[in-house]
Amino acid sequence: MTNKIIEEDIEAIAKNIEKECRRLSGKTLLITGGAGFLGNYFISVVDYLNKNVLEKPCRIISVDNFITGLKYRTKEGPNFKAIKHNVKDSFDVNEKIDFIMHAAGIASPKFYRKYKIETIDVATLGTKNILELAKEKKPESVLFFSSSEVYGDPDPRFVPTPETYVGRVSCTGPRSNYDESKRLGETMCIAYFQEHNIPVKIVRPFNVFGPGMRLDDYRVIPNFVAHALQKKPIPVYGTGKHTRTFCYVTDGITGFLKVLLSGYNGEIFNVGNDSNEISTENLAKTVAEMFGDDTKIEKTTGPTDAYASADPKRRCPDINKIKAKLGYAPKIELKTGIKRFVEWAREAQI
Ligand code: UDP
Repeated sequence: MTNKIIEEDIEAIAKNIEKECRRLSGKTLLITGGAGFLGNYFISVVDYLNKNVLEKPCRIISVDNFITGLKYRTKEGPNFKAIKHNVKDSFDVNEKIDFIMHAAGIASPKFYRKYKIETIDVATLGTKNILELAKEKKPESVLFFSSSEVYGDPDPRFVPTPETYVGRVSCTGPRSNYDESKRLGETMCIAYFQEHNIPVKIVRPFNVFGPGMRLDDYRVIPNFVAHALQKKPIPVYGTGKHTRTFCYVTDGITGFLKVLLSGYNGEIFNVGNDSNEISTENLAKTVAEMFGDDTKIEKTTGPTDAYASADPKRRCPDINKIKAKLGYAPKIELKTGIKRFVEWAREAQI
């Protein structure tokens, strides 16, 4: 099951990684979290490459326990195998593996506060299991999905935030189970790179959004759009002055694949869009404008302790490293991305 917007996105991503993707020909890629928003995009991209670009198909094995993932868009077949398993528990795969992406995680503040321990487990025990598997399988490349949350609530002097910023993070506060476990996940990757030469790379995504996110994900864009679609007021938490930058999924996936298919072992890359830092208040106005005059905006408090005082005040990436080393350049403007999301959401309405 797919839709026009997602099909166009997949084609756009395939074009963006035309050169790099040849390395996937005839290979096997293991992905964790394949049933999630990003995971489904990766699987669709590989499916498209198999049908249109690669000489020999790339086989995908996905491991997901469906704690927040909903379902796969791609049907199982000779080139796609789905395993239901929680990566916090070790597992073995009875075949060669050439690439690994550890994309499993619980990224929405609403859900990582609901599943506090599971969130820690997948980023730490899950990461350890993946790195151990990599020790055994000796893949060409491993990618760990960290988060821009490793920077915590950055000192404004370090916004836009470069990879070298060490962060301002509470180890016990309301976001700590997510932030600190991602930080430890990164630490593990670097230790395995240094001790066992695992060719692991780390990406730190900055608010990647797009079609295929759950409309009940509670993160800001799906939540604003879900409310507007249901003709409920758009909920702006707190003052509405906090800012984020938003990276449309085609730009996000392009960045992640560029890093996976690069030779930058043991290195870290921010992936995001640095050109659209916007306050939540103005984001609400932007969404409201797309739905017409009767759409209301309401100031309210967030549903969990991850908002209010723990809510980072500004978030914007410095993406000079990935631009310079991998020729990355985000293309999709915020309004275009939101329009695509709305068009998809109207169709996907649950
Ligand atoms: N936010 C909001 N209304 C919502 C959801 C989120 O005002 O319905 C705000 C939230 O307080 C934060 C920003 O939007 O300042 C981004 O929140 P999100 O949950 O998307 O992820 P975060 O970037 O905080 O991890």
